[in-house]
Amino acid sequence: MTALEANFCRVRLDGIGPAAAGELLCVRRTRLGKTGQRIYVGDRVRVEGIDWPARRGAIAAVAERRTQLERPAVANCSRVVVVVALEQPRLDPPQLNRFLLTAERTGVAVELVLTKADLVAPQDLQAWCARLQGWGYEPLPVSTLRGDGIESLRRRLQQPGISVLCGPSGVGKSSLINALVPTLDLRVSAVSGRLQRGRHTTRHVELFSLAPGALLADTPGFNRPDLPRDPIELGPLFPEIRRRQAQASCRFRNCLHQGDPGCAVGDAWDRHPLYLSCLEAVLAEAEREGPRDSSEPSSRRGDRSEPRLDQRLRQLSRRRQRQGQADD
Ligand code: GDP
Ligand code: ZN
Repeated sequence: MTALEANFCRVRLDGIGPAAAGELLCVRRTRLGKTGQRIYVGDRVRVEGIDWPARRGAIAAVAERRTQLERPAVANCSRVVVVVALEQPRLDPPQLNRFLLTAERTGVAVELVLTKADLVAPQDLQAWCARLQGWGYEPLPVSTLRGDGIESLRRRLQQPGISVLCGPSGVGKSSLINALVPTLDLRVSAVSGRLQRGRHTTRHVELFSLAPGALLADTPGFNRPDLPRDPIELGPLFPEIRRRQAQASCRFRNCLHQGDPGCAVGDAWDRHPLYLSCLEAVLAEAEREGPRDSSEPSSRRGDRSEPRLDQRLRQLSRRRQRQGQADD
């Protein structure tokens, strides 16, 4: 399902149907609504009662989702592309870090794109790329102004799956989407009659085809980063930590890698200070909120029992007290 507008859904067929149909305009069966099942763009659906000449049908069932993003509401996303500018606004490592962590939290593949490559000197671009490779990414510099990198990005996004771009505002996400989907405006204006986006239709996310099986959401995703609530979930969001832990494990299973004895992660990596400041923020938030309300849904990464979190917080506050005493 590639677009949700007013009372209709646009459904792209896996193959080509009779009368060369590639897409159907579908209504939702009422029973889908009754079971409370909400359809997301990106959902795989079963269509019934197809009128091929009119290219109409009705969505009868929605397949189970592999992933579900809320901002934007996209099902089965398989790639989040974090987009930041090199200049205007200047690349800000703490901000990029938080966007990368938010992208990693979705659990899907993360790509990194650096825009406005035309605004930096080649040696500065080189330095940024080398630094961010150290973070565990393969940054792709692009310039929509000069066209650099657009074809490389298109190739990365032509792998089957749904991609969503995200990043701070003003970095050039919309320019990038337009560069990747030049027919976008054309397609929007080609939609006729009651489907046309008017004052009364809500603007929803829509998926555009980049290659067979490869779709791109036309709406940039989250533009405000979001950290996990449980401090133990922070480390695995860093490729550097994942890599180090694949080689050796820390002595304590709930090690928070802040210079603890037997820590296999250490501090000899560029993002370590950013890791520590995010950890501080997560711990401060956990402390501020107090014990979690048991009525809340458990975290996405499974059930972490309360005692372990509380214990870590106690350890931390003891450590803070000791530090405080030492500082006095
Ligand atoms: P968004 O908020 O991330 O969607 O960013 P936009 O696509 O709206 O772009 C923000 C500004 O950056 C606009 O003024 C664009 O013209 C400019 N811009 C976008 N891409 C480039 C680029 O490759 N080079 C330069 N110099 N400016 C760009
Ligand atoms: Zn550790």
